[in-house]
Amino acid sequence: MKRDARTIWIDDKARAAGFADGESLARRFELKAYRIAQLYRAATKELAPGVSGVSVLSKELREQLTAAGLRFDSLAPVAMQHSNDRQTTKGLLALRDGVEVETVLMQHFGDRNTVCISSQAGCAYGCTFCATGQGGFTRQLSATEIFDQARFFARDLLQRGKRITNIVFMGMGEPFANYDAVMDAVSLLNDPHGFGLGQRHITISTVGVVPKIDRFADEAIQVNLAISLHAPNDELRSQMMPVNRRWNLAELMSACERYVKKTNRKVFFEYVMLAGVNDSAANANELAALMRGHLYHANLIPYNATPDAEFSATPDVKIWEFAAIIEAAGVPVTVRANMGRDIAAACGQLRAETQPKARKATA
Ligand code: SAH
Ligand code: SF4
Repeated sequence: MKRDARTIWIDDKARAAGFADGESLARRFELKAYRIAQLYRAATKELAPGVSGVSVLSKELREQLTAAGLRFDSLAPVAMQHSNDRQTTKGLLALRDGVEVETVLMQHFGDRNTVCISSQAGCAYGCTFCATGQGGFTRQLSATEIFDQARFFARDLLQRGKRITNIVFMGMGEPFANYDAVMDAVSLLNDPHGFGLGQRHITISTVGVVPKIDRFADEAIQVNLAISLHAPNDELRSQMMPVNRRWNLAELMSACERYVKKTNRKVFFEYVMLAGVNDSAANANELAALMRGHLYHANLIPYNATPDAEFSATPDVKIWEFAAIIEAAGVPVTVRANMGRDIAAACGQLRAETQPKARKATA
């Protein structure tokens, strides 16, 4: 049975403070259920700064809980960067053990505020064009470590009378390699009694972990699914993305077909445009052939050069030519707005600049 959002939150927060779970924390401080509800509401709905600001609790209790290590935030900013147009803000955030993750806020001319969150510190999948992948895997994030990235920017926006409109799991890490914590984080983001962001405003992006695509199809939720495709044939995809040697394109595309059949929801395919690698007219035709006739949408992503990148970005005009071929073949396609390039807003880049390479995991 699925746990409710409040239980997910208090269990996680209690564990971070060194308790076995929420129940043992509640027992220690004789917290009734309504007290936990007050704490949860203050942290996730009212976006209070911390336990000490929750005035419905006695001062004594607030002090005791703080002394015991209960925190609303599981992360603190280490470095913040703003793009020149100030539409993109990138945060390097340190978790309680000092491990750092990246979270990015993208403001689309005031009407949409999208936050790109990380699901893991680092990533074990080793995609060749990705700074996170090249840095290796550090550790899994808990549900509240994921959720608190959204809380961080929600608090920042609130001060300007704004709110988060969309969340994308496109930061560091592979969401489907940390499946349970990511689903718990989705429950926290979505809870109408808490943070209250609609499922349709949340998108999970996966490198293509086939068994988890099937599991996700069974969840009966309205969270959007995006697949990092990036190459239209196995030879190229295996070169760029080691995951393709485990689950090839045929297996990936059948999982997507099963997903659409079961959920009747659209699948978004991401395709990062690398000059001279995957951006030829022939590649566009191959991509169109893979996608045509299904409830699929292609999203072409301008490449953000990484520090020691061996790739370069496809020129914009060529991206539009590529898009035109796909569109002419009857496949819906968009080109991603290219935000925050001047601050290396491709995920993994800020951390790559400030931290030595993490352990390279054997995927
Ligand atoms: N692991 C997941 C989600 C995180 S990556 C996944 O791979 O889907 C989010 C997206 O950013 C992916 O589509 C990824 O391929 C893309 N990406 C990675 N590095 C990039 C870069 N340097 N420039 C542009 N997009 C990049
Ligand atoms: Fe990991 Fe996604 Fe980067 Fe690949 S693109 S290395 S799966 S974060």
